[in-house]
Amino acid sequence: MAAPKTQGAVARLKERDDANLIGVGGVDREDSNSEDCILEPLSLPESPGGTTTLDGSPSVPCIFCEEHFPVAEQDKLLKHMIIEHKLVIADVKLVADFQRYILYWRKRFTEQPITDFCSVIRINSTAPLEEQDNYFLLCDVLPEDRILREELQKQRLKEILEQQQQERNDTNFHGICMFCNEEFLGNRSVLLNHMAREHAFNIGLPDNIVNCNEFLCMLQKKLDNLQCLYCEKNFRDKNTLKDHMRKKQHRRINPKNREYDRFYVINYLVRLSFRNLKFNCNTTNKFLKAN
Ligand SMILES: [Zn+2]
Ligand SMILES: [Zn+2]
Ligand SMILES: [Zn+2]
Repeated sequence: MAAPKTQGAVARLKERDDANLIGVGGVDREDSNSEDCILEPLSLPESPGGTTTLDGSPSVPCIFCEEHFPVAEQDKLLKHMIIEHKLVIADVKLVADFQRYILYWRKRFTEQPITDFCSVIRINSTAPLEEQDNYFLLCDVLPEDRILREELQKQRLKEILEQQQQERNDTNFHGICMFCNEEFLGNRSVLLNHMAREHAFNIGLPDNIVNCNEFLCMLQKKLDNLQCLYCEKNFRDKNTLKDHMRKKQHRRINPKNREYDRFYVINYLVRLSFRNLKFNCNTTNKFLKAN
C-alpha cells in the first residue's frame, strides 16, 4: 500500500545532497513493516529541557548512542547519525520540534527493531557484496512518523498562538525606537505603529507578529553592526547608513531573509498545511505543463 509513496521518498532522498548519497550506484529498497496500525495516541516526550550541554545550552541526544549535540547544531547530529548509524531522516527541515522528534524516536527504537520503522535502502546494489551498504530511511510514509510530525506541528502552532495572544494583551512592553531613540511603554503596537507612521518603517501588523521583542532585538543588532536592513550591505558609520536607508528607501526589512519567517504567525499556519500546498503546487505544475 505504501510502496509508490516510499519510492517517491527514495527519489527525494537521491536528490538530497546532505544525505551524501548522490552519485552512488543502484538504490534498492526492501519493504518494512510500515503497515502497523497505531492503536494508542502517541505519547510525546514531556517538555524537552532534560538534557543540556556543558555550557548550559539545550542539546539533543543521538537516537542510538550517548552523543549529544546542541539544538542549534542539528546538522551535526544528522551527519553523525548518517555516518555512524546509517540513519537518514527525510524532510527533517519540516519537523516543527526537532528535539521532541528525536527524543520520541530514541525511545521507540529501544522498544522495537529499526526495520519495524525504517525502509532499508541498499546503496551500490550492483557492486560486489562487500561494497554494498544498507541505509535506513525514516520518513513520513510510516504512519507513526506522519502522525508524530503532525502532532509536533499542531503543538508548535498552539504554543505560537498562545505567545501571540500573550503579547497582544501585554501592557508591560518596553522598547526604544530604532530610528529616533524615543522610549515606548505599554503595548508593542505603540512602538510598531510609531515606526510605521514616523519613519515609514513597516514590518507588518502588530497582531500578525510573534516574539516581537526578539524580532526587534535582531533588527537593532543589524543596525548596531552598521548593516542596512533591506539590502544588508555594511556601512562605515551610523550616519552613512542612515542616509543610505533614507535616500534609497531601504527602511524596510529584506523580504528574502528567511530568518524573519518565524516572527510571522502566518508561517506556522502555512507549515501546517504544507503537505497540501506541496500537492497543489505539483498538480498545478502538471496542469501547466499539460496545457
Ligand atoms: Zn550516535
Ligand atoms: Zn522613532
Ligand atoms: Zn540598503
